[in-house]
Amino acid sequence: MLSEAGLERLWREIYDLTGEITPLHSDCGELCDSICCQDWEEGVGIYLYPGEEILLSGESWLRRTWHDTRNYTFPTAWDRGAWFVTCDARCPREMRPFGCRTFPLTADMSEDGSWRLILDPNGLPICPLIKTDARFQLRASFRNTMKIAWRKLLTVEAIRNDVLASSRRRRMRYPQEY
Ligand code: SF4
Ligand code: SF4
Repeated sequence: MLSEAGLERLWREIYDLTGEITPLHSDCGELCDSICCQDWEEGVGIYLYPGEEILLSGESWLRRTWHDTRNYTFPTAWDRGAWFVTCDARCPREMRPFGCRTFPLTADMSEDGSWRLILDPNGLPICPLIKTDARFQLRASFRNTMKIAWRKLLTVEAIRNDVLASSRRRRMRYPQEY
């Protein structure tokens, strides 16, 4: 299990690795008026991954709410809860959360622990890249960078457990995608 200092080092490495990369050569926000950075539905936001909050504790553009496991369902590895964040649509790009960086891709894990990157069907209501199954239009450098980042993140047990639990939920919700 990684110490807090180890987790912080890992997240700094991940943020450095993924800071500049974008899904397309052009700005994909032009396809959708950057809908994923807007309040497209009441209460939308994302969860930070375990340890990611260490890097984002002083960011005033980010609103953080602690979701306790007594009130929300989480993977068992998240033993106390998780930070749910929303933003004011004006993040400093180098500090955007990992969930924003990897979208529209996400890691999907099978029961045997093998994993792959997929277009996240949870983004179907908003993202034209997901709606049109544009995986082969994504830059190879984006796919490769995210693969490296996820491979490093999946060495953390809490993140691995979260990805497995999210993958199970996704398979139930979108069986046609599998
Ligand atoms: S919703 Fe999809 S296409 Fe639009 S900005 Fe986000 S990732 Fe790009
Ligand atoms: S944190 Fe940045 S990238 Fe993420 S939704 Fe907000 S404005 Fe968009």
